[in-house]
Amino acid sequence: MHEASIVEALLEAARDEMLRAGAERILRLEVTVGALSGVNVEALRFAFDMLAPGTPAEGAELDVVETRALCACRACGEENPVEDPFSACPACGSVDVRIRGGDELLLSSLEVEEKSSAAG
Ligand SMILES: [Zn+2]
Repeated sequence: MHEASIVEALLEAARDEMLRAGAERILRLEVTVGALSGVNVEALRFAFDMLAPGTPAEGAELDVVETRALCACRACGEENPVEDPFSACPACGSVDVRIRGGDELLLSSLEVEEKSSAAG
């Protein structure tokens, strides 16, 4: 499953971030997934549930932010969100367009539990 290796990479990135923050537990991960990234969000969540146990992200909340691509039309100048990389302009139907964005796949935010500093 494609999504499993993605989640493994995300968990690794999250763990690195957590260690950098001097924390020992991950509370929430926010992952930005573009509509054109080819990632199935359901499968991503499923893979997370499978892989998170035993890692610092065990029990953490997984937030998936889905972004859409923008279709910038050279014919009419409109910019519209699209879900297909081969879209024509939704405004005028021209195929003289440039698709940008929508292929993101990244760990966009991380909430960690700080180590207790009560002891010093
Ligand atoms: Zn157009």
